Amino acid sequence: MGRDWSPIAYDHEAIREIVTEVRNGLPVERVKYRKIPHVGELVAWRDRKAWRVTAVFERDQANWDDQTTKVWEREGMPDPATWPGRERAVRLQSATDPKDREPHRAIYPWASNDQWWPLREQYPVCNDCGLIWPCPCDERNDEAVAAMKEFNRLAGIMPGCCWACGDPVTGRHHSIVFAGENLLMPGAGPAVFHTSHSRKAKRGTCRGQAEDYERQWVLAEPGRRVRLRCSGVLYRHLSASECTTGERCVGVEATHPDHAHCTTRSYASWTNGQAVENPRPLTNCGTRGCRGPKAPVDANADSRAA
Ligand SMILES: [Zn+2]
Ligand SMILES: [Zn+2]
Ligand SMILES: [Zn+2]
Ligand SMILES: [Zn+2]
Ligand SMILES: [Zn+2]
Repeated sequence: MGRDWSPIAYDHEAIREIVTEVRNGLPVERVKYRKIPHVGELVAWRDRKAWRVTAVFERDQANWDDQTTKVWEREGMPDPATWPGRERAVRLQSATDPKDREPHRAIYPWASNDQWWPLREQYPVCNDCGLIWPCPCDERNDEAVAAMKEFNRLAGIMPGCCWACGDPVTGRHHSIVFAGENLLMPGAGPAVFHTSHSRKAKRGTCRGQAEDYERQWVLAEPGRRVRLRCSGVLYRHLSASECTTGERCVGVEATHPDHAHCTTRSYASWTNGQAVENPRPLTNCGTRGCRGPKAPVDANADSRAA
């Protein structure tokens, strides 16, 4: 069940209410979204069922959720009997089966997400599963349709064509071939991709797709080398670029997700909740502030000066 589900058709007007607030001594009207349903109201819940609200009641503070207590404390512990964020509960009766009752469902008005939606007396439900649209059947159908479309697209890629955009890879284009088993379509030949950053593919760019493919391809068999995406930090010096992996760099033309100017100070990244300082440049280009190692002091030059 999707976390961001909401019914395809609900009563947008019914959930809004106009409240009057006093600001700078003047009454101001403001639209608010109701957090508490009315008794007798027909509502959709996150379970994708339609319910009639038969009672709304207060929840004892002793039974509040820890989250509610935290929010209440953060707001300065206002009177728990009147605090708008206090928990309430509802009693529900199924709109389709009167014998199906829910004696107690908690409502957390402080939460920003919606827990229920007002329905009009007519609302669309799925013929197959009986749940309110969009129902899980639709999602399963959507997924299956998308998978089938992608399969057909891949199956239609001609030999010698790019596996991201489907266009022929000619000598003029920058391209890359991944030897061995095709990971997108078993049985097809080695996958080839355009590598230019500007070529648009079905999703993103050919280059982006090629880098994604490379990540899987490297893992699929030991000893495979990365060619498109380097894990080093690429520093730009005054006249040239330099990668901190030195000899092991796949080439300064490769994609370096980490890159900076050689004068960038304290360049760190977060790894598993810890700040790890990135490697510094390997050489110093002489620019003021270059973070590469300073050239060793020439002892003779010093003695001559003295
Ligand atoms: Zn359904
Ligand atoms: Zn392409
Ligand atoms: Zn430098
Ligand atoms: Zn590199
Ligand atoms: Zn830069």
